[in-house]
Amino acid sequence: MYKSTIRILVLDDEAFMLKLLAQMLATLGFTQVTTCDNGSEALKWVDAYANVPGLIVMDLNMPKMDGVEFVRELVQHEYEGSLILVSGEDERVLQTAEKLIRAHQISVLGHLRKPVTPERLMALLATWVLPQQGTLLKLRQPYRVDEVRAAIQNGELVNYYQPKVALATGRVAGVETLVRWQHPENGIVLPDQFIGIAEEHGLINELTHVVLASALFQAKHWQQTGLALVVAVNISMDDLTFLDFPDFVAQLAASANVAPEHVVLEVTESRLVRDQRVPLDILTRLRLKRFQLSIDDFGTGHSSLAQLRDMPFGELKIDQSFVHGAWKNETLRAMVDASLGLGKQLGMEVVAEGVEDLDDWNFLRRTRCDLAQGYFIARPMPAADLPVWMESWRERMQRLQAETLS
Ligand code: C2E
Ligand code: MG
Ligand code: MG
Repeated sequence: MYKSTIRILVLDDEAFMLKLLAQMLATLGFTQVTTCDNGSEALKWVDAYANVPGLIVMDLNMPKMDGVEFVRELVQHEYEGSLILVSGEDERVLQTAEKLIRAHQISVLGHLRKPVTPERLMALLATWVLPQQGTLLKLRQPYRVDEVRAAIQNGELVNYYQPKVALATGRVAGVETLVRWQHPENGIVLPDQFIGIAEEHGLINELTHVVLASALFQAKHWQQTGLALVVAVNISMDDLTFLDFPDFVAQLAASANVAPEHVVLEVTESRLVRDQRVPLDILTRLRLKRFQLSIDDFGTGHSSLAQLRDMPFGELKIDQSFVHGAWKNETLRAMVDASLGLGKQLGMEVVAEGVEDLDDWNFLRRTRCDLAQGYFIARPMPAADLPVWMESWRERMQRLQAETLS
């Protein structure tokens, strides 16, 4: 990053803050710093063809156009640079504002609480990667139904597997199946690009069939090589519309010779289902057949208390948006604690999703949470990579345990 070529705009209604921030930036070696005390003037710079700032350091509270309104304008003006928020507001307001800006596809380096220190400003600037011009706003075209249908029928879907491990011992308790589309031109396509389309156009049953059958045969294969893994498969609420779904799952498991106790069905409710009779019928019968049921993404959308009250789940997965960073964020920690308490009190196994780093892992080890899943442990991987990962995980666990003891 060439500090002298980067344009930074500082927007704050207080003259004192403008001076202070400009001074700090100058001390850090940024020479092209412009200051503005109101949003309308700042927007002129955003439109200034050759002088568009790459970074805007912005106050949230301003008397005329406030920070939230200014961001709305930035979207209109197709701003492609980054933002840093400055404010005296409390953490939760700042976090909400950050979330809003990210939802607008604008990159936010983070926020500075007043009083601002040069150290904190420097730390935020260190995370700055200059966005490639034009890449931020370009969203790819969604896939068409016929493409998704062909992918399912031509065997282009592949199962990846992500381990779930016991927090207390590191034991690998099972794996979750996560489908990918091995696209002939675009490479690996993630499920959020095609699951929704499959659901909307009545293709989800076919997709579930393919994913489930291949996961069960994989489980059988692992069993034969001495790896007795519980295999979880994601199912959509739209799978729970045909009364014979439990019979279909039971037949597949029987033909792969996998015991129902070794199969977990993870359910997320992405939309509200009006008539609960069919899903309740299906879930009850799946339990009678001894399949395990898991409530996925707990705490988001419709994955809620009402579902817990009504449906016979044995496992609760705390959504990753509550887990990662909970150790340093009181709001998230309260939500993890509450979900955990609820799950335990109902006699459920609790899984934390989104365990991304050692801090997340250490925090959860101090709770009563049973299992963990996330990038810290392993990213989803092709089935063939699992045995090698198991070996490396065993070694990592030994090192981790030795470090905690010493
Ligand atoms: P999910 O079931 O909640 O799966 C967890 C998602 O989080 C996966 O995304 C996984 O790759 C990702 N993940 C795992 N660890 C971490 C972490 O530490 N940090 C972060 N930020 N993310 C992590 P993926 O594979 O893209 O799947 C997204 C969603 O698509 C799944 O969410 C699930 O709801 C759905 N899905 C995946 N496969 C299937 C399927 O075969 N059938 C259906 N109906 N839905 C599926
Ligand atoms: Mg899942
Ligand atoms: Mg989840």
